Amino acid sequence: MYDENYLASRLSRHAALTPEKLFARRPGQDDVSYGALFDGAERMARALIDAGLQPGDRVAVQVAKSLTALELYIGTVLAGGIFLPLNTAYTGPEVAYFLGDATPAVVVCDPAREAEIAALAGAARLFTLGADGTGTLAQAQATQPSGDFHAVPRDASDLAAILYTSGTTGRSKGAMLSHANLASNSETLRDYWRFTRDDVLIHALPIFHTHGLFVATNVALLSGAAVVFLAGFDADAILEAMPEATSLMGVPTFYTRLLDDPRLDRTRAANMRLFISGSAPMLVDTHKAWEERTGHTILERYGMTETNMSTSNPYEGERRTGTVGFPLPGVELRIRDEGRDIPQGEIGVIEVRGPNVFQGYWQMPEKTAEELGADGWFITGDLGFVDAEGYVTIVGRAKDLVISGGFNVYPKEVEEVIDDLPGVKESAVIGVPHPDFGEAVVAVVVPEGAGTDAPTIAAALNERLAKFKQPKHIAFIDALPRNTMGKVQKKALRDDFAKLFA
Ligand code: AMP
Repeated sequence: MYDENYLASRLSRHAALTPEKLFARRPGQDDVSYGALFDGAERMARALIDAGLQPGDRVAVQVAKSLTALELYIGTVLAGGIFLPLNTAYTGPEVAYFLGDATPAVVVCDPAREAEIAALAGAARLFTLGADGTGTLAQAQATQPSGDFHAVPRDASDLAAILYTSGTTGRSKGAMLSHANLASNSETLRDYWRFTRDDVLIHALPIFHTHGLFVATNVALLSGAAVVFLAGFDADAILEAMPEATSLMGVPTFYTRLLDDPRLDRTRAANMRLFISGSAPMLVDTHKAWEERTGHTILERYGMTETNMSTSNPYEGERRTGTVGFPLPGVELRIRDEGRDIPQGEIGVIEVRGPNVFQGYWQMPEKTAEELGADGWFITGDLGFVDAEGYVTIVGRAKDLVISGGFNVYPKEVEEVIDDLPGVKESAVIGVPHPDFGEAVVAVVVPEGAGTDAPTIAAALNERLAKFKQPKHIAFIDALPRNTMGKVQKKALRDDFAKLFA
């Protein structure tokens, strides 16, 4: 009865075949079957339609992670709406921008923020949904009947979701993702990473971001796998679940934090078949430490809100540390410099094309035209290169490139040298305004153990890097500023050090 809804017909296949199959296991709560999940999603769809939702309307959602929130995602798709999840950390003024830009028909927020969001929601119908599954939306869902539900027809090219980019430079942009974008990418990942009904995936990522919502959730649904559904990163819960689980998807900080726990060992990871990392670069040291401790090689992949996943290290064959592997089946990838092809192996801007690539930025035709060509190539803004064997390496964001005295400095190259030094945990290299050089290289270093000092680092770099790549200033910091997805917030660092040479 979902036949005419492109994405829902695919996501629901296992629910239709074996409704009794386990979908979610949650610590201290009842298990949830595929049938129960889709029953909840159907009742959610009915509640949305009753609230006036029309096909193509946006449903803006800023709520804590819960299975009811997942039913809201699926219910929105079933009702023909466009799901628009928002980071729970966004403040009132940020939410005001998203609601003004996306003009949703329905807004769902945390009960504790009802009055604040009501003032921003305009003509939209406002509902609440709490972490514990209470709130006016849950009430509306509870009054709906079960069964005999027909999903609202949607084609491959209709929008299923709008996800706002993290907006590290300028305004956040709404990436429009079609039913086919989401279905094709998850199907590709399921097959590439060999997910089946026998898998048990530890799901500890947020569901307002492409990683937890589309990569983790859609891949699990499409393969009929079970998930251990956690409200967020929780080392205890993950380690407890690991002996019975088969797979984990995480950001690099998940892995470094788990490595800090002595309970992580080979025995605990014996049933696991796959550890996947992405959303931010993983340090070579983390890869190595994980392999030594668990016997597993983490599979690193690369993607972004606009493209879903684009590359992945192989399931079989060498997972090459420091690289993000090969373009996924059906995805084309090329490296260019200001629109021109460059010789193989050289660093340039990564462009991708394929069924994974989004439909453009919501109500920003000019921005869309700048980054997404009529020929389908999307300019990612990431800098990287492809080696002779086809492995892709990311060296940073184009906007993080430092140009000092006319020379290009790729922060990652300097960071890797610094990170290798004794007494250094990790580092971030940025460019700050400089009267002579235009920009000067600055290294911000997180010490480890006995620590180190600036002259020692400077001396070590002097032996290994060209003068123009060496930092003009080395600062120490307790921890690098990171967002929820583990990305280092270089803009915050650039702001902090902006006046250093003024
Ligand atoms: P988002 O749209 O929030 O998913 O952020 C996407 C960005 O995260 C990409 O454009 C990359 O800059 C970065 N990213 C994602 N995965 C990786 C990875 N494995 N290594 C390095 N950077 C990554």
